[in-house]
Amino acid sequence: MRITFLGAAGEVTGSQHLIETDSRRILLDCGLFQGHDEECLPKNQKFHCNPRKLDAVILSHAHIDHSGNLPGLVRAGFDGPIYCTRATADIAGLMLRDSAKIQREDAAYRAKKAKDSDPPVVPLYSEDDAKRVAKLFEYVAIGEWETLGDDVRLKFHHAGHILGSAIVELELLDDGIWKRVVFTGDLGRRNKPLLFDPTPVDRCDVVITESTYGDRVHPTPADVKAALQRVICEAAEKKGRVIIPAFSLGRTQLLVFLLNELRNENAMCRVPVFIDSPLATRLTDIYRDHQDEMDEEVTETLKHDDDVFNFDGLTYIRSQDESVALNKRSGPFVVISASGMCTNGRVVHHLKHAVSRPENTVMIIGFQAQGTLGRQLVERRKHVSIHGRRYELNATVETVNGLSAHADAEDFRWWFGELQKNGGCGHAFVVHGEEKPAKALAELITDCCDHDPIVPQFGESFEL
Ligand SMILES: [Zn+2]
Repeated sequence: MRITFLGAAGEVTGSQHLIETDSRRILLDCGLFQGHDEECLPKNQKFHCNPRKLDAVILSHAHIDHSGNLPGLVRAGFDGPIYCTRATADIAGLMLRDSAKIQREDAAYRAKKAKDSDPPVVPLYSEDDAKRVAKLFEYVAIGEWETLGDDVRLKFHHAGHILGSAIVELELLDDGIWKRVVFTGDLGRRNKPLLFDPTPVDRCDVVITESTYGDRVHPTPADVKAALQRVICEAAEKKGRVIIPAFSLGRTQLLVFLLNELRNENAMCRVPVFIDSPLATRLTDIYRDHQDEMDEEVTETLKHDDDVFNFDGLTYIRSQDESVALNKRSGPFVVISASGMCTNGRVVHHLKHAVSRPENTVMIIGFQAQGTLGRQLVERRKHVSIHGRRYELNATVETVNGLSAHADAEDFRWWFGELQKNGGCGHAFVVHGEEKPAKALAELITDCCDHDPIVPQFGESFEL
């Protein structure tokens, strides 16, 4: 058996791992490399395996860094099954159509900047390619073995990361011997609201594990709720606005769920809340459709509250006009809007109208990369630049950590501890992390593995 790391190796995006046996070629995830265009575009345009020769793709979850290049793969000739959970298929269908739209806009922008002598600019893929992907999805239920022929069996386990996310367990017949490979996808957190905890797995020959936050410990959900309550109520007293930039998938739904809980507990001041992101609103509809697949806390809440993603005073904004009207509204109120790093989307307009006034608050709840508007806000600069104009930053900036959907060092210690109790693993490959957390995780899990864990580089292959 051979495993080749074709993405998310030494970095956090572009998840793609190829598994080859004497009879099969299976790709785990087909994510998009995300970041600076000049660097990522060539990496996204070229596949380092032949898409026509792949038997199948197994998709761990719908985040774009795991699913985002499936339309590219289909465009390059792949037409086999894509195995995933039903919720992942529902979410990925929407996310990939949205991503195709971004590719089209991005190509138009590049075409405008191109010289006459440059080759013609084409989008990475089209909305039609995204629709073709949706036709290839084959649903696999969590916790049940699925036979993919005489020589491959597949089982998904709860990953606890976002709705539909799965840990992948594969049994492959290679050279007459069955081998077991486990891929964590993105591992979620224990005791986090909405989703079931990550499921421990049995002894396996190989583990491929993510490591995004392998070197840190997150605050607990209870700390997050207390912080939300404090920040929103303080802003209400000042009659200000609270602007919360949030990722459309996962983060927004978790935030709404926590606010709903605070309301149910009578622990939150009555401030109107607006969700202003068309994509987040549609994704919340999908979350609502899958409420019966969520954890015990949701089941318990549903006994006295028929919708955990709605409460009195919450409005999901759909039209542009309603969004613009918020700029004229007087406070207090809360706006939750995308994009999560304030690089584009409606949140940029809300920030433009809010940052200069001292009664307002910007609440940062996610990682903000270098070079983004979100980063300028986190650093509390005197001025921030929005759409090429300088604005004084007089609003309060509050950073609330702890809403991350990724396992922290304690979660990894627990999950690998359970694996060790179940017999441990032969080899471990640590992916989907920058150098420091990847190395920290490799060290943390050494005792669980027969061989020293490896942090592979892009393109590296291992015969096992
Ligand atoms: Zn993810």
